[in-house]
Amino acid sequence: MTTTHTALSQRVLHLSESETLKMARMARELRALGHDVISLSLGEPDFDTPGHIKNAAFQALHDGYTKYTPVAGLPELTKAISEKFKRDNGLEYKPEQIVVSNGAKQTIYNLCQSLLDPGDEVVVFAPYWVSYWEIIKLSGGIPVPVYAGVDREFKPTPQQLDQAITGRTKFVLFSSPCNPTGTVFDRDELQAYAKVLARHDHVYVVSDEIYEYINFTHEHVSIGSFPPVKDRTITVNGFAKGFAMTGWRLGYMGAPKFIADACAKIQGQVTSGASSFGQKAGAVALMSDLGPTVAMREAFRERRDIVLSMLEEIPGIHSNHPDGAFYVFPDISAFFGKSDGHVIIHNADDFCDFVMTNAHVGLVSGAAFGDPNCFRLSYAASEEQLREAIRRLKDVLGRLR
Ligand code: PMP
Ligand code: GLU
Repeated sequence: MTTTHTALSQRVLHLSESETLKMARMARELRALGHDVISLSLGEPDFDTPGHIKNAAFQALHDGYTKYTPVAGLPELTKAISEKFKRDNGLEYKPEQIVVSNGAKQTIYNLCQSLLDPGDEVVVFAPYWVSYWEIIKLSGGIPVPVYAGVDREFKPTPQQLDQAITGRTKFVLFSSPCNPTGTVFDRDELQAYAKVLARHDHVYVVSDEIYEYINFTHEHVSIGSFPPVKDRTITVNGFAKGFAMTGWRLGYMGAPKFIADACAKIQGQVTSGASSFGQKAGAVALMSDLGPTVAMREAFRERRDIVLSMLEEIPGIHSNHPDGAFYVFPDISAFFGKSDGHVIIHNADDFCDFVMTNAHVGLVSGAAFGDPNCFRLSYAASEEQLREAIRRLKDVLGRLR
């Protein structure tokens, strides 16, 4: 008989567990043991899906939307997405250039499977969302990070982007607003990247805009709206964050037609179309008033301000000042080498373990996102929980010498 280890493919043996989901699991396990854990590890809005969107799903079920849909999405939803791209982003994707998937995570998986051959490179802005790295590797690609630290609000320079591109680069991948940093790239910055990419016409751009509606600057810019990269940009978005619909599993993209067709072909062999009644509700979400989304955004902004002002009071924590999403990504390298008399903090992993064990607060190590000097805190939690968590954080960090 084969051992468990030899039975598994090299592919899965080389895959890391999603660090965000792992920390959420650890928090659940500690809670089950009776500990009062505050988990600020998962990027998931704590709000419920707005009522009118839920009602649209109930209505769809009543109306018999219980069957398979076209793989790329119900025509009514692909049309709504095409209109949304035009209305909000100045992007021209026709309905046949849209593919709806079971979450934006699947959208990114479809893209990597469709575009990457073994040895192809993907330039990834670092810090990056955990799953980018693993999905690229799973697809045979080589992730190539372009990194900027907290001192530059995690914004790589156009020169860095230019230097990272080789003849093997298939696409550039980044998110704005960014997970894990909350950084928002503005018009000038995106235009400067587009100018670099104009010189490399074999390179596609994958712009992940899933946090579009959680932006405190009031201007969301899509890189695909700039002429040099207009026909080479794949714009990824989804319902999870802006409409508090994480569990619905609904994401989408607009892409050059041949890429959309390739992604639909892959999806057609793996999962088929996303859930029928979820898609009906998604169309309603995009076409209705964004009032509930704006209210959530404002709540996130208030929480960001509370979190930043409380973190400022903790010596050794050097936080960024994010303009979007619901994360802060502070540098904690000042604690490296310090100890509470029992354990020594060597890196961000040790830091997060120490905080989880001693304060019962769940954070995610920046190492998982390509920055081992930082941790990610998701402030998608109640004000009361945030205040208590940071109070505990301050208390346990005060024990480190
Ligand atoms: N992109 C980014 C930047 C994310 O943070 C997430 C996490 N939800 C996703 C994509 C995937 O979203 P979904 O839940 O729609 O799969
Ligand atoms: N994207 C969220 C996060 O970064 C959800 C978890 C996940 O899908 O990895 O926490």
